[in-house]
Amino acid sequence: MYPWGLDTSDNWLREPASPMRWLIARIFALAIIILAVFTSFSAHAQFEIPIALDVRVAGDKEASRIIVDFDRPVVGMPQLLEHPWRLVLDFDRIGFGFDPEPERWTGMVSDLRWGDMSEVNSRIIFEVEQPFRIVNIENVENAETNTHRIIVDLALSDAETFKAALLDRMRTSAVVNRDGKSGRLGDPSAAPSRSGAFRIVVDPGHGGIDTGALGRGRTIEKEITLAFSRELKAELETRPGIEVIMTRDSDIFIPLNDRVQFARQHNADLFVSIHADSVRQRYVRGATVYTISEKASDSVAAEIAESENKSDAIAGLTFEDQPDDVSDILIDLARRETLGFSVQFARLAVDSISDEVRMIKNPHRHAGFRVLRAPDVPSVLIELGFLSNADDEKLLNQEDWRAKVATQIASAVESFAALSGREIAEQRVSK
Ligand SMILES: [Zn+2]
Repeated sequence: MYPWGLDTSDNWLREPASPMRWLIARIFALAIIILAVFTSFSAHAQFEIPIALDVRVAGDKEASRIIVDFDRPVVGMPQLLEHPWRLVLDFDRIGFGFDPEPERWTGMVSDLRWGDMSEVNSRIIFEVEQPFRIVNIENVENAETNTHRIIVDLALSDAETFKAALLDRMRTSAVVNRDGKSGRLGDPSAAPSRSGAFRIVVDPGHGGIDTGALGRGRTIEKEITLAFSRELKAELETRPGIEVIMTRDSDIFIPLNDRVQFARQHNADLFVSIHADSVRQRYVRGATVYTISEKASDSVAAEIAESENKSDAIAGLTFEDQPDDVSDILIDLARRETLGFSVQFARLAVDSISDEVRMIKNPHRHAGFRVLRAPDVPSVLIELGFLSNADDEKLLNQEDWRAKVATQIASAVESFAALSGREIAEQRVSK
């Protein structure tokens, strides 16, 4: 029997009645073989990424086991989130081929979400009813079913222990050191100790699932922020004594808090987040430099901060007050010092940028930006212009214009480094 199911008992295939019929039969058979080979190749291509085949949870309210089956080995990076308590498993891109039945689960997990965070990362989120701790996490191959399991054992804990584990994971996990190209998690030990150089973290706003604002001419904010940040990095690197690290150098999503933690983990002397948002008032235009404050300086600032702070929600993270690890007065003092430096840099940036390009009226503004919350790293957010304004949108798309603004910001960074770099280094509170 031929695999493609032709009935070979028929004589016409073996002993063709005429050469023409024989030829047609051969062509037909060849076509089927080519089709079969092609289909198997494309099926293979489709399954190049691991597929999650099944998710289940068993146990009781004190201890539970999560099992995720895959068709091939994978690495899952666990993370913790609170409000509500969650276990997050981050993966290089995976496919989702399961149809979970939470109503049949037993144990502590009450809810499950999953999806892609970018072109290269995927995530499964387990909501847990009580604070918990991870007792064990392992990969197990099941030879019988030819599947590869991730097993996570959870045990009931208390809020304090959970919070401590969460903070610990934030400080030590490599999750914030994503290498954009492969989507793999970088080496946490790559955060080098303080050298003599002034270190600036440039943060291209948005990315991945969070596109940011959309211009009237279809300009996408996340693309402008990345293009500009690359330009700024190149410009800064021409200046001696300045070291530049970017939070992302590709189209990936990074939660706001991870951006803050990235700057802290890298002992940054300055954090600059780059944006180009839109507001309802289309006539509003020009660059703005923002520092943090609890109360917004004006309605535009409040609107911008509100839309920036939605980034996490867009990516499916619950909007929540992220842990600040601000518990003692020392950190409050550090925050006050830090804010002083942030404001100092904002003024330098406004002076320098306004030499060359148009700025909004009162260009130094403040509002409650979550991405500016590092207690120990001076942080500013620069809105290069407004994508809601047609003239600004045109400028934002011009390489020459971007280069000009990058040069002005780099000059401000240079002045700031000369003024206060050393001082800042001495006043940091150790974590
Ligand atoms: Zn933005």
